[in-house]
Amino acid sequence: METILEISGVGKNFGGFTALEGVDLKVASGERLGLIGPNGSGKTTLINCISGALFNDGGSIRFNGSEVSRKPAHERTRLGIARSFQIPRPFRSMTVLENLMVPFAYVCGISGNKARAEAREILGHMGLADKADVLSSQLSQVELRKMELARAMAARPKLLISDEAMAGLAGAEVDEVIKILFELNAMGITIIMIEHIMQAVMSFSQRVVCLDAGRIICEGSPQEVVKNPHVQRAYLGH
Ligand code: ADP
Ligand code: MG
Repeated sequence: METILEISGVGKNFGGFTALEGVDLKVASGERLGLIGPNGSGKTTLINCISGALFNDGGSIRFNGSEVSRKPAHERTRLGIARSFQIPRPFRSMTVLENLMVPFAYVCGISGNKARAEAREILGHMGLADKADVLSSQLSQVELRKMELARAMAARPKLLISDEAMAGLAGAEVDEVIKILFELNAMGITIIMIEHIMQAVMSFSQRVVCLDAGRIICEGSPQEVVKNPHVQRAYLGH
C-alpha cells in the first residue's frame, strides 16, 4: 500500500506545555483510520499540525511524498488535505450552496455555473440536495455537520480529516454520517476519523490509533485497541 501521509517525530508545545511529543504515524492511501484519545490528549492539535492551522515544533510531515510541515494551510488544502472542524464555522448569512462556493473559489479557482453544479453534486452525496438554497443558520445539527463535510469536500481532497463530526448527534444521525464517510472512502478518499463515539470508530476504522497526553500509546485493529489495557486506562477510565 502506498503511504499518503507520513508523520515522524512530531511535537508541539504551547508555552511550557507539551501537547504533542514524538508522534510517528503512517497512513496508507485509501485507508480508514480512527484516531481516539481522552479529552486534551492532542487529537485536534495533531490535526491542526497536519492541516497547517498550527506549525509543529519538531519532526516532519510528508504528504504525497513532499514535506508540508512549513507550508501554509491554504497550500496544504490545494495539495489535497481537508479537514472539518470540531466546532462548525458556517457562514451563517449565506445559503448552504453559497457556503460551498467559497472553497471552490479559493481552493479550486472555479466559480459560476461549474462550481454550482459541482457543489450540488457534493450536496447530493451528503443528502443535502434539497437544502442547497436554505440559509445555513436554519440547518439542524446533523445537517450542519454534513455541510461541514461538504465544505471540506469542495476542496477536492485526497485526505479528509473529520474532527468529531458526530459530537452531539443522536444514534440514527451518527449512522448517517458514518455512511457518508464510507461513501467518500469508496470514492478513493483517505479518511482519518477523530471520534469520541467508540461504536462509530469501531464500525468505520480499519485501524485505530490512540493518543494519550500527546503520545501514541497504542495502535492496531479496532478490536485490539479497545482491549488494550493502556487504552482502557487512558480512554475508557478503567
Ligand atoms: P483533544 O482534541 O484531544 O481534546 P487538543 O489537541 O484540543 O486535545 O488539546 C491538547 C492539549 O493542548 C490540551 O491540554 C489543550 O488545552 C492544549 N491546547 C490546545 N490548543 C492550544 C492552544 N492554542 N494554546 C494553548 N494550549 C492549547
Ligand atoms: Mg479535539
